[in-house]
Amino acid sequence: MSLRRRTLLKVIVLGDSGVGKTSLMNQYVHKKFNHQYKATIGADFVTKELQIDDRLVTLQIWDTAGQERFQSLGVAFYRGADCCVLVYDVNVMRSFDTLDNWHEEFLKQANPADPKTFPFILLGNKIDIDGGNSRVVSEKKAKEWCASKGNILYFETSAKEDYNVDAAFLSIAKTALANEHEQDIYFQGMPEAVPDTEPRGGCAC
Ligand code: GDP
Ligand code: MG
Repeated sequence: MSLRRRTLLKVIVLGDSGVGKTSLMNQYVHKKFNHQYKATIGADFVTKELQIDDRLVTLQIWDTAGQERFQSLGVAFYRGADCCVLVYDVNVMRSFDTLDNWHEEFLKQANPADPKTFPFILLGNKIDIDGGNSRVVSEKKAKEWCASKGNILYFETSAKEDYNVDAAFLSIAKTALANEHEQDIYFQGMPEAVPDTEPRGGCAC
C-alpha cells in the first residue's frame, strides 16, 4: 500500500496596498476577478488543493486583509511560513521601491532558520493595464532586483486577465514544498484518512 500524505504549506502574500494581492488569490482559488477595490476580505487565508508529482498539497495562502497599510500584521501571520510571495504593480514605481522593506520586514518577523535560502517569489502584477504602455518598472529591472536578493523567481502576472496566475502559484507551491519544515508539528504530513476502528477517547459521563 502506498502511503499518500497530505502536506499543508503556508504561503504569505505581501506588498503595498492596491497592487492586486487579493485579486491574484481570488483569481487563483476562485477563478474570479473583481473590479471593485475592497481593502478587507474578512478571512485570514484561502486554501487550494493541488497535486505535485505524487504529493497531495494544500496551499494555505495568507492575505493581509488590508492591514498592510499599517504594517501591523502580527506574529501569527508570519509564523511557520514556507514561502513568501512579494507583489508589486508594474505601473507604480513606489510599489517596487518598497519591496526592499517588505523583504526585510518578512525576514525580521518570520525569522526563518536560514534567511539566505528562505524562498521568496516576486510577482509583477497588472501587466494588462494600457497594453503595457503605462508600466514604469521593466522586466529587466525586476529581474535585477531578484538577482540581488539571491535569485528570487520572478513572474509577470495579470489577475484581471488570468495571465500567468496558475503558473506563478504552481511555482510557489513547488518552492514551498522544497522548503517544507521538518519540525512543523502542526501541519506536516497529516494522514489522508483516519481509520474508523481507532478507539475514541473520553467517557460517557
Ligand atoms: P491588494 O490591496 O493588494 O489586495 O489589491 P486588490 O486585489 O484589492 O486590487 C486593487 C485594485 O486593483 C482593484 O481595483 C483590482 O480590481 C485591481 N487589480 C488587481 N489586479 C489587477 C490586474 O492584474 N489588472 C488590473 N487592470 N487591475 C487589477
Ligand atoms: Mg487585499
